[in-house]
Amino acid sequence: MRIVVKVGTSTLAYATGRLNIRHTEQLVKVLSDLKNEGHEVILVSSGAIGMGVGKLSLPTRPKDTTTKQACAAVGQCELMYTYDRLFNAYNHTVAQILLTGVDVEHTERRVNFQNTLSRLLELGALPIINENDTVATDEITSIGDNDTLAAIVACCAKADMLVLLSDIDGLYTANPHTHTDAKLIPLVEEITPEVMALADGAGSALGTGGMATKLRAARMVTSSGADMVIANGAHPELLYDIAAGRSAGTRFAARKED
Ligand code: GLU
Repeated sequence: MRIVVKVGTSTLAYATGRLNIRHTEQLVKVLSDLKNEGHEVILVSSGAIGMGVGKLSLPTRPKDTTTKQACAAVGQCELMYTYDRLFNAYNHTVAQILLTGVDVEHTERRVNFQNTLSRLLELGALPIINENDTVATDEITSIGDNDTLAAIVACCAKADMLVLLSDIDGLYTANPHTHTDAKLIPLVEEITPEVMALADGAGSALGTGGMATKLRAARMVTSSGADMVIANGAHPELLYDIAAGRSAGTRFAARKED
């Protein structure tokens, strides 16, 4: 199976911007094991800006674009250094791909991306993709959030499944932070306006995505014929269940061809 896994800043880093070693090591271990089992794995990783904040010892995530770009430049380096080191311990080779909105809209660039991605997978490497935050900054050039980037990657890669690892267990019947009786929805067969209305839009301190962007990603991915799962990144071992088709988090079923 070809699986795209997206991991958010809230999983990889603490609110301080420093690396969450436990989550990151566990994620790398499980992804390495899934590759050993024969799956093709593509990782879409956030964390560049968040980790830059930590590495530069800034007190909070900056609001201005230029400092965010500077943080991304520092943090992306740190991120890939960390992945390279950790995946190396399991004998896996990583490859960095940085994209912008313009790259995926421009046919020739998109085809170049798709060709490189397929060749990397044939060569047994593990592509790690992020937005090129130092150059894509406005609504025209940038994709804006990595849930959408991951959905685009899953479609371009013709993946069988996209897994969004987040700081929440999945989609709930109401906002679980404010409604104690909210229930996790294990399976969504159709993304109706009622399902869209369950999103409450809130993100975390360091990341950018919220439930609304995840549901839009689900709409894109399921209509391209792949499944999408939202699961809690604090438990990367859930990826074993997800890859095996067992219930974990919220699964959005691929739309069948009519
Ligand atoms: N590209 C951003 C980063 O690496 C993250 C965007 C997102 O999490 O949606 O910090």
